[in-house]
Parts: sequence; C-alpha cells; structure tokens
Amino acid sequence: MITRSTLEIQPLSWADELRQAFTKPKDLLDALGLDKNHVAYIDDDLDFAFKVPRPFARRMRYGDPCDPLLAQVLPLAAETTKVRGFITDPVGELDQRRLQGLLQKYHGRALLIAAGACAVNCRYCFRRHYPYAEDVGSQRLNRAIDEIGSDPTISELILSGGDPLLLKDDYLDSLITRVESIGHLRRLRIHTRLPVMIPARFTQTLLERLSRSRLSTVVVVHINHPNEIDNELASALRECQRAGVSVLNQSVLLRDINDDAKTLAALSEALFEAAVLPYYIHLLDPVAGAAHFNVEDDIARLIASELRNRLPGYLVPKFVREISGELAKTPIA
Ligand SMILES: *Cc1c(COP(=O)(O)O)cnc(C)c1O
Ligand code: SF4
Repeated sequence: MITRSTLEIQPLSWADELRQAFTKPKDLLDALGLDKNHVAYIDDDLDFAFKVPRPFARRMRYGDPCDPLLAQVLPLAAETTKVRGFITDPVGELDQRRLQGLLQKYHGRALLIAAGACAVNCRYCFRRHYPYAEDVGSQRLNRAIDEIGSDPTISELILSGGDPLLLKDDYLDSLITRVESIGHLRRLRIHTRLPVMIPARFTQTLLERLSRSRLSTVVVVHINHPNEIDNELASALRECQRAGVSVLNQSVLLRDINDDAKTLAALSEALFEAAVLPYYIHLLDPVAGAAHFNVEDDIARLIASELRNRLPGYLVPKFVREISGELAKTPIA
C-alpha cells in the first residue's frame, strides 16, 4: 500500500539542503544544461572551494551561460591571473583584530568571526583567503565575549564570519543569551547570506529567539541581483521582518552582474516588496582572484547618480568603499 507519507514531498531542512549543495562546477552546469563549450570554467586546484546550495541554483536560468547568479559562483580561469593591487587581505583585517576572532574597526561596533565557512562560496569574496582556522573555536569565542563585556564603549555586536547562521539554532540561542547578559550591548547584528541561499534557514525557532531578545536585532542579508529574490525568499524575509527584526541588504558592485542602474533599481524595488531596505553597495575589495569583477570608480559614480534619479531616497543604497584605516566605510561620491 502506498502510505500517505510517501506521497507527500517534505521540503528539506536547511541542514539537509546544505549537505546537498553542489560541490563540483560540472554538476551544477549539467543541471543547467551547460558545458565547457558554453562557459570556460575551471574545476581543478581551486584554492577556494566550489559550493552552491540547490535552492539558489534553482533561481538560475536554464541554458544561460551568462546568468547573473551563476556568474557569482562559477570559478573562471581569470581567477588564477595575478593582477597588481589585488591581494589576499584587501582591507587589512588581519592587523585590525582586537583578539583572534574579534575585529574592531569602527566606534561602538565589534565584529565576531562566529563561523569559519559559508553556505556558498562567492568568487568575489573579500575574505576568500581569510585564515578562519586562526579565529574560530570555543576558547577564542569565550575570550572575545569577555573582551566585549569589559569594554563599555561597545554597544553593538556584529556576528559575521563566514556565515554565523551556519551555527545551529540551539548554539545561537546560547550565544545570544550570553551576549544579552552584557549590559552595555544594545544591538545585535547578524550578517548572513545563508537565508538567501536557503530560505528555510529562517526557522521558527531562530525567528522566535530573535524576536524575544532584549537587544534590538538587525539582520543584514547579502543579495546582489533581483533574480535572487523568488517568492520563497521574499516570504522568508517578510517573516523575519514580522519577527521584529530590522532587515537590511548589502550588495557588491560586480562587473556584468549588477553594474547598471536598471538592475539595481529592480533590486531595490524587489527588496522593498520583501520588507528589506537597501543599505550598502560595496565597491569590490581588491582581493586576489576577483579582479575580473571590478567596476571602475567613475562608472560606479554614474550608476549611483542614475539610481538617485530613479528611486525614492529610501530605496537608494549608499555606495561605499572600505579603505583600510578609515573610521567608517567611505562614500564614493
Ligand atoms: C563593515 C564593518 C562594520 C560595519 O560597518 P557599518 O558601517 O556600521 O555597517 C563593523 N565592523 C567591521 C570590522 C566591518 O568591516
Ligand atoms: S557569503 Fe559573504 S563571506 Fe561568504 S563567501 Fe559569499 S561574500 Fe564571502
């Protein structure tokens, strides 16, 4: 007899989706009906592994070698070309560690490297060479939390990485409980791309935990192109906002992916419909292996001014660059 449960297709949990992510370019390209004749990718000797969750891959256009989502994750031969000025630690983070696993560059905000990996490996990532192994681990975490607790000038804790939402809900629960006990903290900010890859990551448990935190909670997601926002992601983002979280988006300006005002205007509109406000557009940090994504400053300025002329002010993200040693992200105006 066919039981009811064999007929019902259960959506996978986020952890199962992670385990089933594509780890070989060829497998993803097969699923998209593409091969080496369409796109000259590389798959051997990658110093930064290939990893793409399936829910994200399903938003790529079948048979399109120029798909803007595919272009963010597919390793190209250009990665192996050395380009002057493109280096392993492009924003000088290793010198700005207050402790291993704890970065502080800006007044009032400390950033914890809470996890040493992500759900996806974006080829343009400024931390693609980051020595995560030096920074993660429970002892370092304990020391970092003690350090934050001893410094009353810190009012906001940022969980970053890697992707902090790779941590399981019960672990996050206890981490949040510990940081809530630090009286001078007012805000908890989570920088993540995981729910963009796998919308099921916004579990009820996680949203409920953020919702009842005594800290004001901010989630900054990372979406570069409007095609990343399908109905499933939009409703997950709206649920996060309904849980009382301020949801913001940051993007990286990427050549041939989102380097035009029309695409970025569509992104801002789609974000707003998903209850997300555009926050930053980062100019690419000059990280080794990503020079082919670079957009020149004068082009970025033109795009920014065209965007201002197209959109209401609250839908225009700030175009910024990170300059090592500066006291804030630097506007490119
Ligand atoms: C970018 C960044 C922040 C956050 O800066 P905001 O302008 O507040 O978004 C905080 N700490 C570090 C180390 C950063 O790189
Ligand atoms: S999600 Fe962010 S930190 Fe992770 S690989 Fe992509 S750009 Fe880098």
